[in-house]
Amino acid sequence: MKIFVPDNNRCSGVTETFAEIEGLPNFSCIDPDEIEDAIKKLLAFNREEVAGIVGRAGDDPTWDSLVAPLEEIDDRLTKSWVPISHLNAVVNTDALRAAHDGCLVALTQYSTELGQSQPLYDAYKNLRSSKTYDDELSSAQKKVVDNALIDFELSGVGLDEQTKKRFADISERLAVLASQFQNNVLDASDAWTRHFDGPDLLGGLPDVNLAIAAEAARTRDLDGYVVTLEMPSYAAVMDHAEDRELRREVHEAYVTRSSDRGPHANTFDNTEIMTETLSLRHEKARLLGYGNYAELSVVKKMTDGPAEIEAFLENLLERSLPTAREDLEELSAFAIEKYGIDEVRPWDTRFLSEQLRQEKYAISEEELRPYFPLEKVLTGMFEVVERLYGIRVQRAIAPDHWHDDVLFFEIFRDQDRIARFYVDAFARPHKQGGAWMNDCRVRRESGNFLQLPAAFLTCNFTPPVGDVPALLTHSEVVTLFHEFGHGLHHMLTRQTCAAVSGINGVSWDAVELPSQFMENWCWQAESIDLISGHWQTHDPLPEALLKRLLEARNFQSGLAMVRQLEFGLLDMALHTSQETLDPVEAMLDVRKRTGLVRSPEYDRFLWAFGHIFSGGYAAGYYSYLWSEVLSADAFAAFEEIGVFDRRTGQRFLQEILETGGSKDAIDSYKAFRGRQPDPSALMRHKGLVTT
Ligand code: ZN
Repeated sequence: MKIFVPDNNRCSGVTETFAEIEGLPNFSCIDPDEIEDAIKKLLAFNREEVAGIVGRAGDDPTWDSLVAPLEEIDDRLTKSWVPISHLNAVVNTDALRAAHDGCLVALTQYSTELGQSQPLYDAYKNLRSSKTYDDELSSAQKKVVDNALIDFELSGVGLDEQTKKRFADISERLAVLASQFQNNVLDASDAWTRHFDGPDLLGGLPDVNLAIAAEAARTRDLDGYVVTLEMPSYAAVMDHAEDRELRREVHEAYVTRSSDRGPHANTFDNTEIMTETLSLRHEKARLLGYGNYAELSVVKKMTDGPAEIEAFLENLLERSLPTAREDLEELSAFAIEKYGIDEVRPWDTRFLSEQLRQEKYAISEEELRPYFPLEKVLTGMFEVVERLYGIRVQRAIAPDHWHDDVLFFEIFRDQDRIARFYVDAFARPHKQGGAWMNDCRVRRESGNFLQLPAAFLTCNFTPPVGDVPALLTHSEVVTLFHEFGHGLHHMLTRQTCAAVSGINGVSWDAVELPSQFMENWCWQAESIDLISGHWQTHDPLPEALLKRLLEARNFQSGLAMVRQLEFGLLDMALHTSQETLDPVEAMLDVRKRTGLVRSPEYDRFLWAFGHIFSGGYAAGYYSYLWSEVLSADAFAAFEEIGVFDRRTGQRFLQEILETGGSKDAIDSYKAFRGRQPDPSALMRHKGLVTT
């Protein structure tokens, strides 16, 4: 069976859906009508091969007879599926969605079946207790075997047949629910638009946003302006629209997406999906002998358990609330004085913050935007990592792509090309919101073949309009650095076993370390010089503006921190409860402690919270803050000696980025820092303590 056809871009034949071109997916060959059939054939083929491998490995398995050939099979499947799920997320169509969702049950069945396979489990156990394990395996290989054994247990290999079956059914159903959740969010986001004949009601919106709204109208064959729920459009209204009722209306549309409230109430409603998901997660955990889903989810994380996470979040909350209250008092005083608003509501906070920031620091995102054309930011960002890690990033032509906006780059170490990545930067309809990095190819070695890593960096930035290139706000710049940090973690790895290469095998609560770490270079004078250049004059960000940007860094950071803590605490409440909580009640309950700004009755933000219902952050949202303790403390090592200090950069590269999942996260961290992480750097960076 010929699955991959290297350097072949002709689109014919049934397996062309999985065709490769120059070692990367040939997206144009992916035919939605063929996907289900092709994936199912591949799964059948894999099953036969797995049985053969286990049989041949016998009672005395070795790395080469067992793990290596299984990795080969697994990688082949991943490479086939990844481009499909990527296209489903970024250029969604009905046909693609049907094909994607049609494969989910088969894929989950396959992975549960392997995870619950007693012969396969026995083979790994035999390898684990063999002399080969002690004498011949590298520490990374040992980690792969150890992780695999944990995965078998978490897949229910130890359960009786009847319970195994129930466990498998739950896993299948959860995969389907996660996808349905995401589909509803996407459809609800696309469904709402608001048309304006003229610009009057859009007073306050900067020219660039008006131009985008006009463009959105044109693409819909309308005159005037269209506001959408795509992030650049939503953010423009929230940050700048002077009409309070307009802000409220757009906010309502946004926070009621895929719920039982708001303009499309009950049309794309996620309520049942959420309660069923929570209930099945709980049941799954119980089947494995854990008290709740959070206990199950922490098995492979850095933390000791839910109690430690909750204490961590509560402690941060206690330390952040006083600052958050001060932030709100300041905002409230400003609101009444300037706008006669006697109670600050959620649709006011971003607008008021933006106005107050301008008044206090004489700085606005719009003033900064012309200095951050996407091209310049990318070039500067690459220079930052060249200085830190001695690598070179070059623009190249993608062998194939899925949209004309996609950019493509190659990374070199000395003269060797070591990785490749795509950047899909702009918001558009039928593209999932938010920003993320996903792996496209993992670095691995097989015989004398080395597969280079490749990554997708996906964002939803403001697109270019007319003759004006794409200009980023500073917070979009921060997002780009964040995702590139994940990308570097994936792509600069030196690991050769797929299961611990790049971000694979990294504790989920440490996975935001490299990404949040990179964000720091958006806030240093030396690096801002590299990433900024006015799109017309090419001048870097003027010193006065830079000074104000840095002064304003922690403006309103207390409120932002409490918001993050609210997400983290709510996530933990939902996943530690013995019974399935009503999501509204859970939300209100957490807000008794975190909700400083009174939310409207219709608020259903959780109904579009993909992180915990369709991403990997269930009982794991705290990871952002947990990792931030590490990233802030890691960056402090540079603050002590210089933000471009090459030796410290090399150490971070070697101990964190290149190591990936081959070591426990805390050991990697200690190898870099020479000590345990110190949480005080985070509090200092957030301006929550004065030093
Ligand atoms: Zn991230």
